[in-house]
Amino acid sequence: LTSGLESAWSKLKGEEVLTKENIAEPMRDIRRALLEADVSLPVVRRFVQSVSDQAVGVGVIRGVKPDQQLVKIVNDELVKLMGGEVSELTFAKSGPTVILLAGLQGVGKTTVCAKLANYLKKQGKSSMLVAGDVYRPAAIDQLVILGEQVKVPVYTAGTDTKPSEIARQGLAEAKKKNIDVVIMDTAGRLQIDKGMMDELKEVKRVLNPTEVLLVVDAMTGQEAAALVTTFNVEIGITGAILTKLDGDSRGGAALSVKEVSGKPIKLVGRGERMEDLEPFYPDRMAGRILGMGDVLSFVEKAQEVMKQEDAEDLQKKIMSAKFDFNDFLKQTRAVARMGSMTRVLGMIPGMGKVTPAQIREAEKSLKIMEAMIEVMTPEEREKPELLAESSTRRKRVAQESGKTEQQVSQLVAQLFQMRVRMKNLMGVMEGGSIPALNN
Ligand code: GDP
Ligand code: MG
Repeated sequence: LTSGLESAWSKLKGEEVLTKENIAEPMRDIRRALLEADVSLPVVRRFVQSVSDQAVGVGVIRGVKPDQQLVKIVNDELVKLMGGEVSELTFAKSGPTVILLAGLQGVGKTTVCAKLANYLKKQGKSSMLVAGDVYRPAAIDQLVILGEQVKVPVYTAGTDTKPSEIARQGLAEAKKKNIDVVIMDTAGRLQIDKGMMDELKEVKRVLNPTEVLLVVDAMTGQEAAALVTTFNVEIGITGAILTKLDGDSRGGAALSVKEVSGKPIKLVGRGERMEDLEPFYPDRMAGRILGMGDVLSFVEKAQEVMKQEDAEDLQKKIMSAKFDFNDFLKQTRAVARMGSMTRVLGMIPGMGKVTPAQIREAEKSLKIMEAMIEVMTPEEREKPELLAESSTRRKRVAQESGKTEQQVSQLVAQLFQMRVRMKNLMGVMEGGSIPALNN
């Protein structure tokens, strides 16, 4: 009955550890993936070095290959590097929250202004947009039109007023109107230049903003690191917004932002519509940058099935011969689930010899075992000896589960056999005894 389960279990009993040698090649693939995603080279170098150092010595999850395990570690590191969790916008404790947007020309600043107002409206916050790009009349018109579209007021003062003066007036106006959030649009240039930086510094001084968000086009690629560094050093940013994620880019710029500035990406733009702005989810971004989603979901599933703590806990129990019906159930279920996964994914390494027929058999016997274990008392589950010692108990279990007494005896015997075999599998050779069933 259990031969399928046991061979599956023994194959899943991973004992591999990541070493310098077995990560060398997969690490090269990961390095290539990051470069293809346009993460800048120095960032890739530092990242690869730090992950390699961390990975060596890490145990490989049962049923997972070392390179797959490595992908998971890299992914988790990427997520951590990008802040781990969603970074919320900060709001001022009193008075209007001021958000200053900065960035190169054409990255999507003006669009973000309106999108952000729309986004905040859904959270019940009122906003006002301030038109600070005075170099092109069209830029002001664009903001006015977008403001109308999302039904949010836009403060304009024409093209003859200095941006810092417009900022001062706009802020005063917002205070008068009790607006929650002031969003300041600014001019961008094709390249970073001193004029733009000086102007931004001046605007920032006047506004004393709660957030200074650098708007970065996801297509920026390798230059993102230098760009973010300059803006952060010159102006001081509190975070970034990554736009045009609806494009082809794998978005390596996202990694560079956090790595070089220590500041999180707070929002992402995924299209030209006003609704296309959402929080930045580091885990989704990591998956996109790495581009190895299938491996990841596989490792995550395997991990879920074979929770390390569970395995360690189980091992302790086996060593102390306390492996009971609860563990038996947990274990057989885990292996059965792993089995159905194999069928779905057809990809558990080293599982080649477990046939679909064996898996079906295992699943069928699991159902029968579950039925019997379900009607056992908690005491009986924890002390299988009780059932071994009393045929009255076995009869009761048989009756209540609709199985035969022989099936119950078989199950009890199996548990003790499994205790012994698993002890051996775990490398504890002292063995154990299989009690004869008393009447
Ligand atoms: P600015 O110069 O930084 O103010 O950039 P704009 O807001 O004027 O945007 C430049 C162009 O990019 C416009 O055509 C926008 O519609 C477009 N755009 C902005 N954000 C996105 C986005 O998330 N996805 C796509 N596909 N296009 C965007
Ligand atoms: Mg603009």
